[in-house]
Amino acid sequence: MDIKVVKFGGSSLADAEHFRQVAAIVRADPTRRYVVVSAPGKRHAQDTKVTDMLYHCYEMAHNREDITAYFRQIADRYQAIIRELGMSFDMSGELDYVRDSIQHHTGRDFAASRGEYLNAIILAKYLGFDFIDAESVIFFKDNGLFDDEKTNEMMREELKKHTRAVIPGFYGVMPNGTIKTFSRGGSDITGSIVARACEAALYENWTDVSGCLMADPRIVPDPRPIRTVTYRELRELSYMGATVLHEDAIFPVRFAGIPINIRNTNDPEAPGTMIVANAPDYDSDTVITGIAGKKGLSVIAIEKDMMNAEIGFGRKVLDVLEDNEISFEHLPSGVDTMSVVVSTRSLEPRRERVIAGINRRARPDSIVSEDGLALLAVVGRGMVKAKGTAARIFSAISEAGINIRMIDQGSSELSIIVGVDEKDLEKALRAIYSEFVH
Ligand code: ASP
Repeated sequence: MDIKVVKFGGSSLADAEHFRQVAAIVRADPTRRYVVVSAPGKRHAQDTKVTDMLYHCYEMAHNREDITAYFRQIADRYQAIIRELGMSFDMSGELDYVRDSIQHHTGRDFAASRGEYLNAIILAKYLGFDFIDAESVIFFKDNGLFDDEKTNEMMREELKKHTRAVIPGFYGVMPNGTIKTFSRGGSDITGSIVARACEAALYENWTDVSGCLMADPRIVPDPRPIRTVTYRELRELSYMGATVLHEDAIFPVRFAGIPINIRNTNDPEAPGTMIVANAPDYDSDTVITGIAGKKGLSVIAIEKDMMNAEIGFGRKVLDVLEDNEISFEHLPSGVDTMSVVVSTRSLEPRRERVIAGINRRARPDSIVSEDGLALLAVVGRGMVKAKGTAARIFSAISEAGINIRMIDQGSSELSIIVGVDEKDLEKALRAIYSEFVH
């Protein structure tokens, strides 16, 4: 029988009502055998995530303050969930232990991880599933990097012993036995690791939106959800600032060729977004899959007569960036011009050194750096086939009265990247969206 791994985010497990929805989703499909959970998230806009409260406890303990009163709010959240679910088990021993451990200076990551740990215990009991502590199946190396081989091996063996289990997301263990977390939002990674280890047919990632949207809803009103997106398209979109999944969550399942389905806990009937290795380009009713943009970029514009004939010019420029530990985002070039797009944050502290270095090494005729650039990416596997896509993008932008500062198209024809002034980014994104989506 195929196995599905299901991961629920914090907003899907924020209170008892959501626990009930989650249980209904898990029970609706017997192949949903392994469940990965986040800590309880926000119940309303002004609420605080349990993970943030735990970080706060850690800071208080670190400053030698008494965390008893503050921790009680965390304990109350779990106790309320248990009570409102009508469960009879007593979690006070666990909660006291967590409080005392944080008070007596266990690590910051230990404190943060307890949100997932406690939530997984409750959900396992509620569902009647086994509980597998992530500290026995997720491993980091001495250098702090995730140990994928050991984890895959141990996780696979452990999962074989359990037909159904709940596993807390977000953390694992260091070789010396201390708890270490992934970066924020890391339960997505745990879900992906579990899916790979049990060779799942599907990794369902349940959240509070109906999948990936074609554009940022804060910019484009009510954007359409994306039905199918390839890993590569998603990478292009997230690189440009679209966020749905933790970036690192893609790798374990991509490696194993397992599709991810982003679903909405509050709208379980909606199909959500399928993230797959390969998708036929005709299965989309729009030429483009999605659009995204990011601000805070600078251009270093370099000119030199006969640049095209000078062997090694580009290397000299990039050497200077490397020496200054700056990675470049894009490199559009003309016959005698070369532009290097970098983040303003990385350039700012070393601007003088970089300019002087390029002048010395590459001897250009002119070099200037300009800030205030935004890039937007129009991403779509369907663009390869559809003629005139670039023309449509450019006229939509120019009809909105926006000046295009730069154009770049990846050789895969998967995306077209356009540089505009930061102040024009939102307007440009809206113009492109309405050109392609009706
Ligand atoms: N609870 C953690 C966070 O808030 C991890 C997660 O939810 O994925 O970042």
